[in-house]
Amino acid sequence: MQLQLNDIRKSFGEGENRTEVLRGISCTIAPGSITILLGPSGSGKSTLLNIIGGIESADSGSILLDGKPLDALGDRALTRYRREHLGYVFQAYHLVPNLTVRENIEVGAYLSSHPLNVDELLRLLGLWEHRDKLPNQLSGGQQQRTAIGRAIVKAPDILLCDEPTGALDYATSKEILQLIEDVNLRYGCTVLMVTHNAALSPMADRVIRLRDGAIRDDAQHDMRVHAVALAW
Ligand code: ADP
Repeated sequence: MQLQLNDIRKSFGEGENRTEVLRGISCTIAPGSITILLGPSGSGKSTLLNIIGGIESADSGSILLDGKPLDALGDRALTRYRREHLGYVFQAYHLVPNLTVRENIEVGAYLSSHPLNVDELLRLLGLWEHRDKLPNQLSGGQQQRTAIGRAIVKAPDILLCDEPTGALDYATSKEILQLIEDVNLRYGCTVLMVTHNAALSPMADRVIRLRDGAIRDDAQHDMRVHAVALAW
């Protein structure tokens, strides 16, 4: 699914306190690609991801999916788009505490008309042995694996990841990045990942740098580097 952003603008606050957080973002993201949104803290990365994910709305501009403007969809179609086509992974895992690993992932499966096989996914995620545990019985990396499972079990076209390794140690971060890469390769979903860590750039097909709410640089890579080979 091709994702196109046209002149997205967003401000927060009123009057003197008004700050322009996104100052006209335009880009087209190729289906099946991995794109990294890179920038320092406060540059507007999460706001942009939240607008694409429908968590926040833009003040102006448009988002097109396969050429169709999102705002032309009615409320029900917009909800369906979020349910069926979007997966979201956050820095904080946001798992349901009283549901097991398997049940947390099944929550995602219920949202889709074409979910992946949960058993197969548990194995791919390395969570098969942990499937009956509750989130508080898991390490941070296992919790993030579960959150990734919940996001991808619905076979989304677009996987949005907001600092997915922000709360994890080095070795676990690399495992999670490898998993995101595996998911991209295996299921072909378009990955849009927010990070402030430039060392992750080589694993992406494209790196869009934001600074003060504007695109400062937009670079395509001909060859991706596997996440396992990243170092920082
Ligand atoms: P990044 O993800 O690059 O760190 P954010 O998109 O989170 O940046 O934030 C960009 C700017 O917008 C920051 O200055 C932040 O304080 C401000 N901001 C984000 N969300 C809100 C909000 N809901 N209300 C007011 N200001 C906000």
